[in-house]
Amino acid sequence: MSSDVQLIAQNYRPDTDSLSNRIVLITGAGAGIGAELAVASAACGARVVLLGKTIAKLEATYDRIMAVERERPSIYPLDLLGATPQDYSELAIVLEKEYGRLDGLVHNAGILGDRSPIEHYDPIVWQKTLHVNLTAPFLLTQACIPLMKKSEDASVVFVSSGVGRKGRAYWGAYACSKFGIEGLAQVLADETEENTSIRSNCVNPGATRTAMRKVAYPGEDPSSLKAPQEILSPYLYLLGSDSKGVSGFSLDCQTKDPKR
Ligand code: NDP
Repeated sequence: MSSDVQLIAQNYRPDTDSLSNRIVLITGAGAGIGAELAVASAACGARVVLLGKTIAKLEATYDRIMAVERERPSIYPLDLLGATPQDYSELAIVLEKEYGRLDGLVHNAGILGDRSPIEHYDPIVWQKTLHVNLTAPFLLTQACIPLMKKSEDASVVFVSSGVGRKGRAYWGAYACSKFGIEGLAQVLADETEENTSIRSNCVNPGATRTAMRKVAYPGEDPSSLKAPQEILSPYLYLLGSDSKGVSGFSLDCQTKDPKR
């Protein structure tokens, strides 16, 4: 079953209406994979809520979506590092007023932290990385659960990494945050399995040509990597009703390379 879902997700080709009438919130929607996912989701008919830290970047994604004249997205600036539970409650109130429900939630935003041995890992960087990559997705999910219960089919997509499944030297807080994300996705999937319309899954984008990847692997030839728009099939599959009932999975967007 697991390998069937994996295969279907990687080979998924959405049509232009596969996300129509769906309200989808994407964190980190101003750059990298999040920006491309926002544009692709809008191209499939979703009304996208663009959440992120840098307003100018969110506006650039907004303009790209408006250029193709699909559903008008909205921008919600929020720094996940400083956001409090109160900020998330306010976000949920705004979404409730504007849309009445939430059908998709993608926890894409993330930071790399330091690449350093545990012995020397800076505790402040550790806390920040765990906060943005793991605590913020928990708080945002918690605040949005009542809104997602109002959807007929709500899909939460957590974003993991290869180092969130097998630990690797010097990946410190980032790796541990992604192990945590895998766990959070599983716990939520188990809790929502019965009596809710919510489902929860994880995706690992794999090596992808973005600013984060460049910092993590400065010596790597970027042209050897997939571009963000080439790895989105599992995200789009999980966000739409074609994957209704799929929950508790941890999917790879690319064929596995154990070194990445
Ligand atoms: P980028 O660094 O290109 O983009 C990260 C996004 O997260 C940016 O939009 C950034 O906003 C946002 N973000 C960072 N910190 C905050 C914050 N405090 N508050 C709100 N938004 C924030 O990364 P990628 O696109 O490469 O990564 C996307 C996801 O995929 C991450 O979760 C990453 O861990 C995961 N991933 C990526 C891989 C890759 O090879 N690229 C491989 C495996 C996993 P801003 O630009 O405004 O700072």
